[in-house]
Amino acid sequence: MTARPAIRIRGARQNNLKGFDLDLPLGELHVVTGVSGSGKSSLAFDTVYSEGQRRYVETFSSYARQFLDRMDKPRVDAIDGIPPAIAIDQTNPVRTSRSTVGTMTELNDHLKLLFARAAVLHCRGCGAPVRRDTPSSILDALRAAGLDRVMVTFEVAVPEGSASGEIVELLASQGYTRVHREHPDCIEVIQDRFRLGDGGGTRSGGHGRSGESARAGERTPRPGHARAAEAVEGALKAGRGRLTIYRLDAQRRARSPRRFSTALHCARCDVEYREPTPSTFSFNSPLGACQTCRGFGRTMGIDYGLVVPDESKTLREGAIRPWQSQSYRQCQRDLLRYARRRGVPLDRPWSELDAATREWVLEGEADFDEGRWYGVRRFFDWLETKSYRMHVRVLLSRYRTYRECPACRGARLKPEARRALGRTPAHRPPEATLDERAFASQPGLCIHDVMRLPLDRCRAFFDRLRLRAPLDEATGLLLAERAGETSSADQGGCSEGFLAA
Ligand SMILES: [Zn+2]
Ligand SMILES: [Zn+2]
Repeated sequence: MTARPAIRIRGARQNNLKGFDLDLPLGELHVVTGVSGSGKSSLAFDTVYSEGQRRYVETFSSYARQFLDRMDKPRVDAIDGIPPAIAIDQTNPVRTSRSTVGTMTELNDHLKLLFARAAVLHCRGCGAPVRRDTPSSILDALRAAGLDRVMVTFEVAVPEGSASGEIVELLASQGYTRVHREHPDCIEVIQDRFRLGDGGGTRSGGHGRSGESARAGERTPRPGHARAAEAVEGALKAGRGRLTIYRLDAQRRARSPRRFSTALHCARCDVEYREPTPSTFSFNSPLGACQTCRGFGRTMGIDYGLVVPDESKTLREGAIRPWQSQSYRQCQRDLLRYARRRGVPLDRPWSELDAATREWVLEGEADFDEGRWYGVRRFFDWLETKSYRMHVRVLLSRYRTYRECPACRGARLKPEARRALGRTPAHRPPEATLDERAFASQPGLCIHDVMRLPLDRCRAFFDRLRLRAPLDEATGLLLAERAGETSSADQGGCSEGFLAA
């Protein structure tokens, strides 16, 4: 018996196995080798994996078990110390280089569901959580801000080709007679002005859908919150889900606007976000994959370090390596001609040329047919169009390199997927306009961060994760299952692994 935790197999007789005993210490990499037909798969898949999976499935309720594949009990006298298992076999081949341990084991499917359901979206402009406002959340926010006199407005767009006067008239016919501001493309209309706190209000503004504006200034014995609720609901309806609330100062001037929106929209930055679905979090789906790298997380580009491998060479000596072959001699001659015209030193080593000159050599100034310098980059762009030729492909491959995708910084997903769970700081998306410090204070991990965590930390993350109410039971179930699966991946002896590996 081994003292260390191990899978202990006694009398393995599955298929052609001859009833042997074997101890497999946990937390180590084991390799099973042997000639074809010697029983490698019978041991690894049909015995160890099969028993691990079977016992794992047994831990579910009979209701859940009906949705899971049942495994037959392998022919073996006894197996002890076996954790739940995950098999990645060759009958389920890696189809694309997008596949990861996470996608192969379907752990990612759970992650996608969880993120679609529970992750919090933070605005890329201001970092504030983006949630749909509702009339009651707006009223709560007003109460929390301790405002006294307020004005509620909404905006009406002026369609192209119409005069704002026509819209103002149309609004008046619906009882909206007070305009806060007129912009060329929209009109900000006053829904109502009232006091929040005092259980009654002075109807000093407001619309007269039922002739109320005629009684402006009259005191209405109505509780403040009912008035506020009516104003908020009315403005949301007329403003297509968006409204602004101003604090009115002692002189009744509108101050500090606060914008609200019932859409997934940051009213402060005016950025609209799309509702997430599981596909939003899948780099294997066109809906989720970053459009620049198509979900691979890296893009192919020309490595200028390979283009200028020897920086001690001058332009005349052939610093630009691909143009020193007979086939592209003409490009070298073009370079020298345009450089001479521009006054670029031909006999100074590349390492001593200033940044602007190097940039000019590499990036050029205009397209091929414009009679100006086209640059190394356009040369390679042109080569790409000829890549149906074998020798061009060979040439390109010598100068190409993979780089982290600049659009997603390797996260492989569109910006919409940057929604966070939990409270640990996250991957900084390139489109975030808030500064580094503000970003570092943002809570939560996005799906990309979770996939990059070592499995033991991934498990710890899910153990600590507390979701805000009211997330329904389904999410709780999902989370329980996820925790089970990462722990099985973890116990399976691959705690050093990553879901994205
Ligand atoms: Zn914002
Ligand atoms: Zn990308």
